[in-house]
Amino acid sequence: MTKKKVTIAGAGLVGSMLACYMAKRGHDVEVYERRQDMRKIQMSAGKSINLALSVRGWTALERIGMKEAIEEIAIPMYAREIHNIGEEAITQPYGQDGEAIYSVSRGDLNKKLMNKAEETLGPKIFFDHRLLDVDFDKNTCLFQDTNTGEHQIVKSDFIFGTDGAFSGVRNAMVKTPRFNYSQSYLKTAYKELTIPPAEDGSHRITKNVLHIWPRRHFMLIALPNMDGSFTVTLFAPYTGEGGFEGLDNDQAIIDYFNKYFPSAVPHMPTLVQDFYENPTADLVTVKCDPWTYENAMLLGDAAHAVVPFYGQGMNAGFEDCRVLDDMMEKYGDDWEKVFEGYNESRVDDGQAIADLAIENYTEMCDSVADQEFILRKKIEKHLVRELGGRYLPKYETVSFSNRRYSHAIAMGKLQDQLFDQILNLEGIESNWQDEKVLDIVKQWLADHPEYDHA
Ligand code: FAD
Repeated sequence: MTKKKVTIAGAGLVGSMLACYMAKRGHDVEVYERRQDMRKIQMSAGKSINLALSVRGWTALERIGMKEAIEEIAIPMYAREIHNIGEEAITQPYGQDGEAIYSVSRGDLNKKLMNKAEETLGPKIFFDHRLLDVDFDKNTCLFQDTNTGEHQIVKSDFIFGTDGAFSGVRNAMVKTPRFNYSQSYLKTAYKELTIPPAEDGSHRITKNVLHIWPRRHFMLIALPNMDGSFTVTLFAPYTGEGGFEGLDNDQAIIDYFNKYFPSAVPHMPTLVQDFYENPTADLVTVKCDPWTYENAMLLGDAAHAVVPFYGQGMNAGFEDCRVLDDMMEKYGDDWEKVFEGYNESRVDDGQAIADLAIENYTEMCDSVADQEFILRKKIEKHLVRELGGRYLPKYETVSFSNRRYSHAIAMGKLQDQLFDQILNLEGIESNWQDEKVLDIVKQWLADHPEYDHA
């Protein structure tokens, strides 16, 4: 490709990855980041401390040669461990034969991606620079140095907005003709807490799983960290049963956790302190369309902020970079086609994962403890094995494949209808391995060849 001057706004997870992709193709890249350099000072990486990385993320990392480096800081989680009150914990494997999603520190991942970008680019990430505005006619960005207050206009061939859920590049696009945009908040908020390492540095509860304490309309989850700790997140409504309202004194906090999450409490010696110190944060979904305007493009949360219940926000953002790279490979210097191709293949998928993520809140909080759900999971695993992968459940399609999210959501709706039929079969609780069930699914695959992953 002919070398182009590229400006990237935002050096979070997606901006840092995009810088690697652009540098790899030989472009002249400059990245502007509002925050300080997280590699030089102790600072929170913002949002969640750790995240679940799955196949889409790994695929994008592999293409820039970062898979091995990230494997060193990733903890496989092979299953969900479900903690119902007064019962033994139950393990629900995620996939087949050792498939896992991986817990990774957001800060460490971001730092490694920044280092990789700078290895190729040279020191071209400008920290403490906030994007204020974009002029699409002139191809310029207006930045402010947050230390000196000085303004700087940067002109380039292309502008990429990877500046997160409240993107300045997207704000500028909102003022352009026929740009669709919506933002909606869940009534549920979240707060991060911690389970510290045991005295010998090991993990106090099962390490290689994602822990869930589901309570119908709210839940606690925990993901393991490399230092033996777990990052614990309470997702709960502001008001109503299990809500944050009234949790404003030590006793109320302790009573709440003893009532709803008694098995977690003994592992959380700093519970009350963490509860006061850590913010209660909101969960937003942002949808917009198109993701390109003139010579500017949105990627990551700037294009599609989604709630975290499928663990896909970052994975989807990494996939944006990989798909854009596919388009550069396909269309070379024809940038109009690159932009068109990216927009056409990503917008529907961004909207699909936003909807899937909201749906999955109910699954995590409620269904995982439901006998019918557990039976369906068991049957689906059996089907995958017996049909050699021709039948692929929705969760596996999203987390363990690179198939389009829009494919997964459309297929999932039909699979729900299929399972309405299967779960209504007489004696299904004990006859789930019967030939009859396989026949129904084979017929379903014949009727829907687009979902036969032979
Ligand atoms: P961000 O991470 O928000 O980065 C944007 C960057 O742009 C930041 O560095 C910011 O400082 C900078 N910036 C912002 N405005 C400006 C400006 N005006 N000028 C210059 N720079 C600017 N995803 C998963 O895949 N798996 C998970 O398990 C998962 N768990 C999550 C849990 C929680 C609680 C939350 C809230 C999110 C979770 N996500 C998860 C989603 C994930 O965090 C996001 O999708 C991901 O961070 C998006 O990366 P990004 O680079 O697009 O945006």
